[in-house]
Amino acid sequence: MSETIEATNLRKMKKELMTCTYCGFCKSVCPTFQRVGWDPSVARGRMVLAYGLLQKEIPADPSVLEYLYQCTTCKDCERRCPSKISVVDVVESARRDLVAAGHMLPKHKAMVEKVIATGNPYGEKKSVPDTLGSQPKKAKVGYFVGCTATYRDRALADATMSILRKIGEDFTLINENCCGSVLQRIGVDEVEVEKLWESNVKSIRSLGVEKVVFSCAGCYRMFKEEYPKKLDLGFEVLHITEYLASKDLKMKPFEGIITYHDPCHLGRHCHVYDAPRAVLAKIPGAQFKEMPRNRDTSACCGGGGGVRSAYPELSKEIAARRVEEASFADLLVTTCPFCVNNLKAGASGRPSPEIIDLVQLVDRLL
Ligand code: SF4
Ligand code: SF4
Repeated sequence: MSETIEATNLRKMKKELMTCTYCGFCKSVCPTFQRVGWDPSVARGRMVLAYGLLQKEIPADPSVLEYLYQCTTCKDCERRCPSKISVVDVVESARRDLVAAGHMLPKHKAMVEKVIATGNPYGEKKSVPDTLGSQPKKAKVGYFVGCTATYRDRALADATMSILRKIGEDFTLINENCCGSVLQRIGVDEVEVEKLWESNVKSIRSLGVEKVVFSCAGCYRMFKEEYPKKLDLGFEVLHITEYLASKDLKMKPFEGIITYHDPCHLGRHCHVYDAPRAVLAKIPGAQFKEMPRNRDTSACCGGGGGVRSAYPELSKEIAARRVEEASFADLLVTTCPFCVNNLKAGASGRPSPEIIDLVQLVDRLL
């Protein structure tokens, strides 16, 4: 039988937990609630579960784990919450307490063990520069590729490097480890997460890099929001779209309608909304049209917060709804490998709209 746990991290969130009025405004936006339809799968219910764990009124049983780990950490509920509750912080605090008490979903446990053993969640032995065939060197601009573009979505890494070469940037790859996002979202102890931060910052600094560009929205968020809480970086952090927005990109025309999906990591978490749209505006001939839910009201693709790995069917159902919203477009562009993968899964082989990462589109037209 499951036991109650010591909720050390949730204790620090007690004020947030006591502030929830159970109004249910969060129901109107929560992507997991819209699919599951059951109160524990919305912010309100997750507040109740977290409070129950804190007060030792409920045990850490499999259903509690399920509802706390089905949160994509998309932050949309925080936008709707009249009490301004930091729902994602509460959920992640609860997850840290669960992990500290020895509770982890099997899929997440396997990923965490791989990150600790090999520095990436796929368990790949080769380093990022060795895999991509370009060794680190001294340069002012560094490209932090991220594990997914290196080991699973190589086309994204190749397109980003191709763009940097086409515009004449002298850049370097980095001896990188996982940025730590996977461990942090799952709730692994911060000492383990911060070891990754320190090793990445040391590698970047050793190359004299002044500016680091990211093609992964998740890695970017870690460096932009999380690393500076503990480390003095000493270099600028730019998403590739922020870097490209100020460049003179001479692209071939595209005839058709383009829409853009804001990744939660980049949009609601880091407030980068204009730069990707500015890059798309440079494409001659393209008609840009927003989906009804865009910028801070953008719908989650369902792929974040460890949901894709632990609950792939739920993740895919959330993505299917998002793809449906873009059915008027020829191209559904986003700028995060997790969003691209998940939206493609949600499209279930439908040929239109074509789902593509922004860097791959730019590289194709440049
Ligand atoms: S909107 Fe905020 S206050 Fe209302 S139920 Fe949801 S989390 Fe609680
Ligand atoms: S962060 Fe997103 S998935 Fe999690 S409770 Fe809030 S709206 Fe739902």
